[in-house]
Amino acid sequence: YKRIPLFGIEIDPLRMPEAVEMLQGWLTNERSPTARYVVTPNVDHTVLLQSSAPLRAAYHDADVVLADGWPVVMASRLLGKPLPERVTGSDLVPALFAGAQNKAPLKTFLLGAAPGVAQRAAVNIHRQYENVQVVSTYSPPLGFENDTAENNNILSRIAEVEPDLLIIGLGAPKQETWIHRYRHQVAAKVAICAGATIDFLAG
Ligand code: UDP
Repeated sequence: YKRIPLFGIEIDPLRMPEAVEMLQGWLTNERSPTARYVVTPNVDHTVLLQSSAPLRAAYHDADVVLADGWPVVMASRLLGKPLPERVTGSDLVPALFAGAQNKAPLKTFLLGAAPGVAQRAAVNIHRQYENVQVVSTYSPPLGFENDTAENNNILSRIAEVEPDLLIIGLGAPKQETWIHRYRHQVAAKVAICAGATIDFLAG
């Protein structure tokens, strides 16, 4: 398939099952030195993009770009370059969890959300998905993005548990620019920039 250019972003015309299948492939394969990552642009992001070169670069280099917002899908249709459907991060993550059927559990790291929230999400995830194991959670302090020691701390915490999947809930554009900057050092197979998904999972 070809990426669809819209608002200066190139979006993958994938339906949910196709996106899940692609990510499952990467999650089952050997770890590569660079983490693959998923971004899910909505209209807010297209506005942020105009004034942020780092966000543009993060979108440009993403392995999967999915349309999170209905307006993005509507616009694609009006412009005659139709995206097949909306695929939000908060739907994609549970779909991946539900589809985890390997012999070994899907090792998942929850990065972000307010302190305590990811632990509550982990309890719910374990209750609902028997083949997913939340191996660690971490809520970085305010201003972490400009603090080298703190960024190294985050990378070490990830390296310690070598998750398959890293869910990043640090808000846009921080989550996208963070994974773009550190993807060569992140010891996860796949990272998903997931906005408030950890909050949703916490219930
Ligand atoms: N968040 C965080 N650290 C930050 C900023 C945000 O952990 O420095 C978390 C916030 O607690 C929430 C998530 O990022 O769980 C998503 O925030 P928001 O809804 O603002 O992001 P968006 O949906 O716009 O990407």
